[in-house]
This record gives sequence, structure tokens and C-alpha cells, in this order.
Amino acid sequence: MKELIFIDDARGMGPDTDEVFKYTQSFFPCLKIKKILLVKALGSKRTVDSLAEKFVGSKMCAGVSPSIVEKEILFEKNRLLDDKNKSFGNLYDGFSYLEAMAPVCGGMKIRRGDAVILFTNQLMATYDEADKRYHLRTAIHSVPLSIISVTGIIEAPAKPREYYLKKQAGIPEHELKAEFAGRFIDYGDKRAITECSKGLVLQAIFYAVTGEPFCENKKCRLFNAHWQEELIASQIKNRQGLCPAHKKILEDAKKDFCKVIRFPS
Ligand SMILES: [Zn+2]
Repeated sequence: MKELIFIDDARGMGPDTDEVFKYTQSFFPCLKIKKILLVKALGSKRTVDSLAEKFVGSKMCAGVSPSIVEKEILFEKNRLLDDKNKSFGNLYDGFSYLEAMAPVCGGMKIRRGDAVILFTNQLMATYDEADKRYHLRTAIHSVPLSIISVTGIIEAPAKPREYYLKKQAGIPEHELKAEFAGRFIDYGDKRAITECSKGLVLQAIFYAVTGEPFCENKKCRLFNAHWQEELIASQIKNRQGLCPAHKKILEDAKKDFCKVIRFPS
């Protein structure tokens, strides 16, 4: 397999993957890209059972009763096998989720150097030792698998401070959405999800090749936005795509990118 593989588990909430393909190929013209629904990539019943248990492990707190664990495992199995199950926004530990997905990549015979991206409609969080807290993430990068959380695009970067102040003051959400229109990405905004996904896919590829997915330039698709307005500026309003420094890195390392992403010769 000489491809970048998208595993789609966003259940209709994800990006227009054809458009993300085209955008990615504008940087890597020879790159072959394949899309597969997660349900088609699961393989055996054993993989499903194991995945369901590991997913529960990645979201359960210690001390939960065995009967609740059983119910959660059943919920995860049903979610995995029924692609019409639209349950979204459940919160998981992102690194545990990545680890749980390893057998799926193994079953797909992912080879060294291939890159895989899972689009999910679930929320991923990672623990930060510095402030001892979990933080929601738009994406978690690893090799070969990166996760892009489409609900994380909406929930992880913070909305404008004034939004929260006005919300605390009791202003109804529909009024706030009207007042702050265009300053944060909301559910159902497929165009925005698609634009953000383009940049997050580039981050995943840069991580796979250089080990560094992010850029400090706010006008670069690799910028790691912590605020919705930064995300919109770097991914939607940004017309230059990559910053000059990353365009140069891409050009200089073209051979490495080809090698790692396995361009056809
Ligand atoms: Zn950059």
C-alpha cells in the first residue's frame, strides 16, 4: 500500500474528503489517497470486541461499577458496527484511543512509511503535565496514525472571551450565535470543517516526515490554534496555505516526503 489513507468515522459530520484529497494532492501531486469507512476497516469480531473494551478503557474513570463498564462496552460495540449510529461528542483520552486503534491499522496491513488519518466525530483530550489538566484537541498526531476530531474543531479552540462573559451573564445562546457569527465554527458548518481538515491533514503529514506538525506563524496551515479566531484566520481566511518557511521545508525535503509517504516512482 503506497497511500495516505483516510479512515472515516465522522458519521456525516466530517469534511468533504474529496476536497481535502485535492488540496493535499496540490502539495503532493503523486500521492495516492484512499478513503475507507471505519466499519469496513474493523476486520474480525475479535478486533471489534477488543476495540470496544479499549475505547471504554480510554474514557472510563477508575472505580466505575462492572455493570456500567458492561453497558459501555455494549454501547461501543453497537457504535462500531452500526455506521448509522450518530452518537457524537463522547470524550476519550486521545493517546489511549490511538493505541486502541493500532490493531485496526495492523489489520489494514499499513506498512512502515504509510500515513493514516482517522476522522472521528468523538472528542479527544490529552493530559498536560504542566497544568495537570486534560485539554480537548482538534488533532492528535502519531505515526502511522493521526486522529482528527471534527467535533474537536468546534469544541477545542476557545471562543472569544466576550462570548463566555455574555453567556455567564445569561444571554441566550441563539443571540450569542448571531452576535458572534463568523468568530467561531459551529456544528453543521461543513465548509469550515473541510477547510480546517485540510490544514490538520498537512500537520499530520509534516509530523510523519519531520516530527514537527506545528508552526508559530498564524498565517500558516500548520499553526496550532488555541482560539477559534486563530483557527479561522489560519485555516479559512489564510490564502497562502503554508508560510514561506514551510514551503521551503517542503521543497527542500521533497525526497524525504516522497520516501515517507511512499510516492509512486
Ligand atoms: Zn509555517
